[in-house]
Order: sequence, then structure tokens, then C-alpha cells
Amino acid sequence: MSHHYQLIWFRQDLRIQDHAALWHATQAGPCIALVILSPKQWQLHDDAAIKIDFYLRQLKQLKQDLEALNIPLMVQTVDLWKGIPQFIENLLKHIPFQNIYANIEFGFNELKRDNAIHHILNLQQKQLILLQDRTLFPIASIRNQSNQPYQVFGAFKKTCYQRLEHGLPQCYPSPLQQLPIELNLTELTNTDIEQLRSVFQDQLRENTECEWKIGEAHALALLDQFVEEHLAEYKLARDFPAQSGTSQLSPYLNIGVLSIRQCLQALFRKQLGHFTIQSEGQQTWLDELLWREFYQHILFDFPQVSKHLPFKASTQNIEWRDDQESLKQWQQGLTGIPIVDAGMRQLLATGWMHNRVRMICAMFLSKNLLIDWRIGEQWFMQQLIDGDLAANNGGWQWCASTGTDAAPYFRVFNPVSQSNKFDPQGDYIRKWVPELKGLDAKTIHEPYAKNSSIKLNYPKPIVDLKLSRVRAIEAFKHSQ
Ligand SMILES: Cc1cc2nc3c(=O)[nH]c(=O)nc-3n(C[C@H](O)[C@H](O)[C@H](O)COP(=O)(O)OP(=O)(O)OC[C@H]3O[C@@H](n4cnc5c(N)ncnc54)[C@H](O)[C@@H]3O)c2cc1C
Repeated sequence: MSHHYQLIWFRQDLRIQDHAALWHATQAGPCIALVILSPKQWQLHDDAAIKIDFYLRQLKQLKQDLEALNIPLMVQTVDLWKGIPQFIENLLKHIPFQNIYANIEFGFNELKRDNAIHHILNLQQKQLILLQDRTLFPIASIRNQSNQPYQVFGAFKKTCYQRLEHGLPQCYPSPLQQLPIELNLTELTNTDIEQLRSVFQDQLRENTECEWKIGEAHALALLDQFVEEHLAEYKLARDFPAQSGTSQLSPYLNIGVLSIRQCLQALFRKQLGHFTIQSEGQQTWLDELLWREFYQHILFDFPQVSKHLPFKASTQNIEWRDDQESLKQWQQGLTGIPIVDAGMRQLLATGWMHNRVRMICAMFLSKNLLIDWRIGEQWFMQQLIDGDLAANNGGWQWCASTGTDAAPYFRVFNPVSQSNKFDPQGDYIRKWVPELKGLDAKTIHEPYAKNSSIKLNYPKPIVDLKLSRVRAIEAFKHSQ
């Protein structure tokens, strides 16, 4: 058996093209690929069934794509991450690989897991070689003049722009086909992907598979289509949930079917890869990609956000309300506030929610209902196909005014005004709240406002928006 295999460990990066760790591993010698599935860990992290299913479907595709390169894939289930070091130790006895290559993950538990593996490998003069892949710029590399991490998006973004002026991060070449490996890995593969998928099937709703197709080719086609057809209108269209004004690429970026460098390169393709901003749409989409970048860096630099703690320690003492009934109504889209209910039902039905509506729903829970943002964060994670700790936590803490660069606590969206502004014809509401289908564009945002006795199979608002706004501001003021 050759002693020169490299092990390439795929995690949240299920693709072949533009893959930092895969590229480096294949440059070092023949490779064997590894994926470790940890269903109990997913449960602890509140990963949604739809996200797991999407991951497993993409994993099957990855297996085929790797086979075409003669890279065999081992798929192993290790229920909890704490069992992984032991698994790696056993693997060393069966495959005399040289090093393990993987793309770095920034969460606190992820880093702890990788440290334990470093230790085991080092004892055998081997290494876990971690590559930067998930972000445009290496973590801990965007610093202010005092060499400290940024806590405010504007300043972070400015430094990113300066870095981009020196050149866009380049995509890695695709690996070449290697010679076939004569190695029987069946004993080292304890997982049938389809069988594991069936465990999550019951929790899935209909139509999810046809809505969220897998595959790198599909993700790249979506990216191209967005850049060609929607980018020009993005600045205007992105806030209107009834329009397909955004890319809907988040599920693909999240499990790494698509890389962030591929997005950036596509964004500047017409400028031949030069950092020249030529339209508002281009600038606005770049800024959204940088919001993603910002929260990834925050996750690494401020590990408290991985531990259910607010970014702003001063918000620790807010007295959140324990209101199980309202929480349930919010979760099921039965609050009596149409735009909130439409968003929450879109989430339940598709595993995805439009960004503007995510903000409205999150603010409604954390401000109008004064329910702890962490409960909302968890619910989103349990439903989202693109559930990502950094972005979800960042989004929730922004809305709840507990996070970096967050909305000031006295800024409380009025969901009805938001609805009038961003869903003016009520089309988004009509789609997700069919009970209100027959109402006109004026009435649909607040059905009982002008006529409280109107007969509708739809609840009355569970909270008074004005009074609850004042209650939230008071609660935040008193906690300071
Ligand atoms: C309460 C709340 C929770 C959120 N939870 C998540 C989450 O779990 N996973 C997730 O990927 N995004 C999350 N977001 C951010 C944002 O809503 C989604 O990234 C966006 O709706 C995805 O749609 P899109 O791909 O069409 O985005 P586009 O508008 O096309 O943006 C392109 C990409 O940029 C990134 N992006 C855009 N906006 C943001 C943002 N505000 N923060 C971070 N990244 C951004 C995403 O990767 C997105 O795919 C959350 C936002 C809020 C307010």
C-alpha cells in the first residue's frame, strides 16, 4: 500500500471546482476523499432537515464527480464530533496517509475539533493542513490600524475594498484526473447516503427537491443567470419579496456547492476580472457578499457569538418575555400581521425566506413580542436550507440590537409600514397567506384596521404594534 496518499476531508465545501483544500491535496499526490457525517451533532446545532437533505443529495453528486477524477470517497458516520479524533486514529491504522487537507471552519466547536485532530496527527509526524476557502480574505487578516478586528461593517467594508483594489481573489484550477487507486475502502465506509436520507424524509415537506436542485453546474448556471439578467436591477428589486430580485444562492454558498470567489469573479466578469464598479447593482451585490464576509470574520474574532451570548455584553440583562403561545403563533405564521405570517409560512414551505422579510420577522419577535432573539435564531436554524451560524446569528443580533453594528434599540420596524413599502400590491402576502387573497392592496397589509368586523378566516393581531414598540424600547433602556 502506498504511503503517499493524501486525505482530502470535505466539510461545508461539497464541490470540485475552485476548492482550496482539494487543489492543494491533489498537488501533493494521489488523494482519497473523506466525508464524516455527524447526525447527533447536526441535531445539537439545530440543522434543518431540509438543509441536511440538500447536503446529502449534493454529497451523492460529489461522490460521482470525484469518481470521474479517480478519487474514491469514504463516507463515515461519527455521531458526535468528539468521536472524530478517535476515528482518525483508527483510520491511520488502515490507510497510511501522509496528511489531511481540509478547509478551515471558524466556529468555536469546529476549531476545538480540529485542534484535537492536529494533536493526534502531530504525534505521528503528520499534519492537518487547513486552508482558507470560505471567505474572500483569510480570517484575522482584515484589521484596523491598532491591529484589532473591526466591529462595524462600514469600516470593515472599506478595508475590503482597498484589498480588492490590489486584485480580486483568484479561483483555484480544477484538479486533474489521477491514476486509479487500488484500494478497497468498503470496510471504511459505514454509511449508505440514501439510507441516512430516509431518516430525514419524514420531516420534509413536499416539492423541496424540485425547488432546490443540487450540482455545481446548476449553481454556476444560477449565478450566471443572476449576473446576466438580474444584477442591473438588484439595488431596486432586492427589497421586494414578491419579485425574484435576489440570487437565491445562499443554500449553495452555505454548503459550498459554490465558492465565494466564483461569485466575485462572476460579478466582475464584464470588467475582465478588474475591480471596477460600473453599476449600482454590482456595488450593492458586492456589499451583500461582504456582509457575509463580515459575519464570518466576526464568528472567528468574537467566539462569544458561537456560545449563545450577545455581541454587546450590555444587552445581557434585557428581560425577555416568556410567552409560549405568541411564540407558537409566530412560528406557524398566525400572528395576524400579514407580512410576518407570509414570511414565516414561506420559511416553513420552502426552507428559505426573503432577506427583507427575515428582518421584519426577526424584529417583530425580538421587539414587538419581546421574546429572546436566541429562540428565534434557533427556530430559523431549524427551518432554513441556508442556515449558517455566522449569518443567522449576525442577522438576528442585528435585528435585536444586541450585535455588532446593530440597529439601535429604539429603531423598531413597523411591519405594516414595511409591508406597504416593500409589498405594495400585497402579492407576496397573497401567495403565502391565501386566506387574504381576496383583499385589495390597501386592506391586505392590515385587514382589520378599517373594519374590525370583517369576516376572514385569519387571526386578529396578537399584539398592539404601537404599545409593544414602546414596551420594547423601555425594556432595552432599563437594561443599559
Ligand atoms: C434574521 C436573519 C437571519 C439570517 N440567516 C441567514 C442564514 O442562516 N444563512 C444565510 O446565508 N443568510 C442569512 N441571512 C442573510 C440573508 O437574509 C440571506 O443571506 C439572503 O436572504 C439569501 O438570499 P440570496 O442568496 O438571494 O441573497 P442575495 O441578496 O443574492 O445575496 C448574495 C449572497 O450574499 C450573502 N448575504 C446577503 N445578505 C446577507 C446578510 N445580510 N448577511 C450575511 N450574508 C448575506 C448570502 O450568502 C447571499 O446568498 C439572515 C438574515 C437575517 C436578517
